[in-house]
Amino acid sequence: MSRPVFATIDRQALRHNLAIARHAAPDARVWSVVKANAYGHGLSRVWESLSETDGFALLNMEEAILLRDSGWRKPILLLEGFFYPEDLVLIDRYRLTTSVHSNWQIKALAEAQLSAQVDIYLKINSGMNRLGFRPEQAHSVYRKLRALPGIGDITLMAHFADAENPDGLVAPLQRIERAAEGLAIPRSLSNSVCTLWHPEAHYDWVRPGIILYGASPSGDWQDIASTGLKPVMTLNSEIIGIQQLSPGDSVGYGYRYHAQQAQRIGVVACGYADGYPRRAPNGTLVCVDGVMTQVVGTVSMDMITVDLTPCPQAGIGSKVELWGEQVKIDRVAKAAGTVGYELMCALAPRVPVKVI
Ligand SMILES: *Cc1c(COP(=O)(O)O)cnc(C)c1O
Repeated sequence: MSRPVFATIDRQALRHNLAIARHAAPDARVWSVVKANAYGHGLSRVWESLSETDGFALLNMEEAILLRDSGWRKPILLLEGFFYPEDLVLIDRYRLTTSVHSNWQIKALAEAQLSAQVDIYLKINSGMNRLGFRPEQAHSVYRKLRALPGIGDITLMAHFADAENPDGLVAPLQRIERAAEGLAIPRSLSNSVCTLWHPEAHYDWVRPGIILYGASPSGDWQDIASTGLKPVMTLNSEIIGIQQLSPGDSVGYGYRYHAQQAQRIGVVACGYADGYPRRAPNGTLVCVDGVMTQVVGTVSMDMITVDLTPCPQAGIGSKVELWGEQVKIDRVAKAAGTVGYELMCALAPRVPVKVI
């Protein structure tokens, strides 16, 4: 028998969440974003459950090749484009769509020996100042690309820095509108936040990521409470030890928790080496035998300690949910000062995964 910690990936929830994303942007086609090994869920485990999508968007060549080798024939978008000119050989061989954000990539495309035309996502910097051409360069870059014989369809792409803010899209969207005026090409501007809450940014292709996995793009679980999204990943374990504390006793590294009264503590087989955030403080929610309780004491590499006061029936072997349907991953993330994205991406390789 292995250690009791395991993750569960719910395929039905993936299909359901994709349908919700589609419903939120009914006139757009959908790139399902499966970068970072499908946000830690395992690309090879999940892609078939998302096969109703119009395309998959990711970063790594290896992940693109995995999809092609698994039989995916529809579009694949490289969100950050190619990293070296030699990558164009694989882009050509595997029929990938690539983003283009820098002049050196245009030069590489001009010099490449391509067997067929490559579709391009022309990336515009919306003001985030990460990747992309300045908006005022949109026309000239488009003309340069259009003049190359190796280029097929060109779509305008941008990403927003502050879409969670209700007014966060106004200025960047205007900037893009102005820049793209007269460019009669499709647009793709929307991540999960925009897919759910900014129809004015939907255009031709949306690019939802986090909502496919049932977590909040804003980091606030209540924001998606009424959307019907379902968590895809559950992290479970069991209680493997019990401690009976007297008033004044302390728990774990640094004695960071002190019992005020007599108290039962459960030791759970899951720690930061499994992907549970070490920074989760006293009070972070945990569910034991269906009852909500909380972390007490420092998260260790292989264990956490939880308060059993609300669940006196709990004992060795009691089921624990670290995150999932009952404990929203966004709530654990918030308590630990991060976002659900980081927690799901950091699920450790040593945790066995069941697909249901
Ligand atoms: C990751 C990513 C997305 C998806 O973002 P979510 O917030 O997970 O929806 C969309 N577009 C680009 C360019 C990305 O890098």
